[in-house]
Amino acid sequence: MPVRVLVTDPVDEAGLRALERAGVEVDYRPGISHEELRDVVGQYDALIIRGRTKLGRDVLEAGAGRLKAICRAGVGLDNVDLGAAEELNIAVFNTPEASTEAVAELTVALMLALARAIPRADGAMKDGLWIKRELMGWELAGKALGIIGFGRIGQRVAEICSALRMRILAYRRTRPPGLEEVLKRTGARMAPLEELLRSSDIITIHVPLTPQTRHMIGEREIAMMKDGAIIINTSRGGVIDEEALLRALKNGKLAGAALDVFEEEPPRGVSLELARLPNVIATPHIGGQTKEAQEMASRMAAEKLIEFFRSRGLL
Ligand code: NAD
Repeated sequence: MPVRVLVTDPVDEAGLRALERAGVEVDYRPGISHEELRDVVGQYDALIIRGRTKLGRDVLEAGAGRLKAICRAGVGLDNVDLGAAEELNIAVFNTPEASTEAVAELTVALMLALARAIPRADGAMKDGLWIKRELMGWELAGKALGIIGFGRIGQRVAEICSALRMRILAYRRTRPPGLEEVLKRTGARMAPLEELLRSSDIITIHVPLTPQTRHMIGEREIAMMKDGAIIINTSRGGVIDEEALLRALKNGKLAGAALDVFEEEPPRGVSLELARLPNVIATPHIGGQTKEAQEMASRMAAEKLIEFFRSRGLL
């Protein structure tokens, strides 16, 4: 019996072709409804999903027997019932490496956009206004950049920002092997969180959302920051207490923020109020939205599944 994979969300076709070349039968049904999926999931050995498809216990139980693996082309796995998958012996993969460059580049783009008020300049030009005198910017060179969460994305941000001659402080919980080399290459220095908060001009956040990192930047942490500091968040909205951030941006404690992620997406309530502030640049969770990142996510998802099936002698 051929190995069959169902793709339930839009993914770049590069990975689908790779699966076919490896002898896998691929059904591409992006947009499949929850009910349809529950009906057909038992006919497949694996699923490739993105964020839209919800794989609750009901779907996984309907697939149990034949379904052996799920791969998320991308990062988050919050749409998969991981407990049920484990119980049912269904392997779960994702491709977090694929969006590192895309998110790091967006982070730096947001920093530059804030520093030079690019959205405001462009908006005025489109309105036929020449507001050159009002647009006094500042330079990234020489500024202290605090990177909270120094993994794949945080380190890549450090590499780019070292070329911009920023002074880099980094904070992470652990000190894995290989870190010294990155620090040497980027000129970054590891610092305790409190020191980073007190001495950075710009703070950028790159931790995953976990029970420990939820609201890790709140009233207390913002109070420690330099007056007029700016925050960039391209990680997850819940890492920042949005109410505390809103207050600090309104009362001038913080000069600005750039946010790609919100506690509620699409934003409503406090998240929307934040996105609408004049000193905030907001983007709709586009960190990983590049052609290259999407193609790599699709290829890596295919590679992971091919390796999985080969290791079990099914391919
Ligand atoms: P990673 O796992 O390589 O790095 C995360 C870092 O955070 C690690 O250094 C880890 O030690 C550190 N960390 C974890 N918990 C911590 C804590 N409590 N205190 C301090 N440090 C802590 O992950 P990554 O690939 O760099 O991605 C980071 C995050 O970016 C992801 O978890 C995801 O939420 C987000 N992301 C967003 C987008 C987007 O579209 N905007 C796309 C991809 C990833």
